[in-house]
Amino acid sequence: MILGVADYPGLEGSFEDFLNFASKLKVRVLELKLDRLELLLSFSKTDKILKLKNLSNSYDFKYFVHAPNVDTNLASVNPLIRRVFKKTILKAVIFAAELDAGLLVSHVGRLSRDYPRKLVRKAMKNSTDSLREINQLSSDLGIIFTIENDHKSNDYVLAGYPEQINFLIENVGCKLTFDIGHANTIGKIEDFTKLLDKFIVNVHLHDNNGKEDEHLPIGKGSIDFMEVFKRMKDWRSEKPLIIECHSFAGLKKSIDFMRQEFLR
Ligand SMILES: [Zn+2]
Repeated sequence: MILGVADYPGLEGSFEDFLNFASKLKVRVLELKLDRLELLLSFSKTDKILKLKNLSNSYDFKYFVHAPNVDTNLASVNPLIRRVFKKTILKAVIFAAELDAGLLVSHVGRLSRDYPRKLVRKAMKNSTDSLREINQLSSDLGIIFTIENDHKSNDYVLAGYPEQINFLIENVGCKLTFDIGHANTIGKIEDFTKLLDKFIVNVHLHDNNGKEDEHLPIGKGSIDFMEVFKRMKDWRSEKPLIIECHSFAGLKKSIDFMRQEFLR
């Protein structure tokens, strides 16, 4: 089983503390979140990238990078800030390449509910145009570019439903980081995996009760992980399974759960 943990900008302590924590868990993959302030202030500065690279190379992990997401919206209908968002994610691609990370994850963006629904198409096009450029740069630099499926939101989601995600991937040419917890706030997980499994190269695992994106430890919400893994047999051996809880205790509990239930 290829187990990993994802960082979270709200976790206490430094980036190095997170690396040490993950090292004790003996996981293989770390998904670095560029929203962690320490990384956000460094990831576009050459000298600081070198320091981060030296630090990350002193551990035996495989790294994935999650592009900035907080305050970022590739689908924005405001052309001035949309340009900055695109530039931000393009810089994240370069950072991932500098760090020898194999995979980059980005969110797609949303349309604010303040706008009429008919603008969803425009927002989708905005996002798709930027994602194409990001996908091209990633492929030039040897990085697998993935979008992540969204959870339920008060705003119009563009990558929440299986058909939306399928449309985006076919138009961008990228792959999918499939977030089981997010999918559970929108519909049946089976409906996602049936249509999208061929695109899934990375899986985010956390739990919830089907209404909100709670990022609970695995087994503490309504997702039937036994059933999911029974159906998705190859996930256990072939796909990176990245735990994405928002506390150290939740991350540890979930890793323990995965090893107890599925490492037999
Ligand atoms: Zn996720």
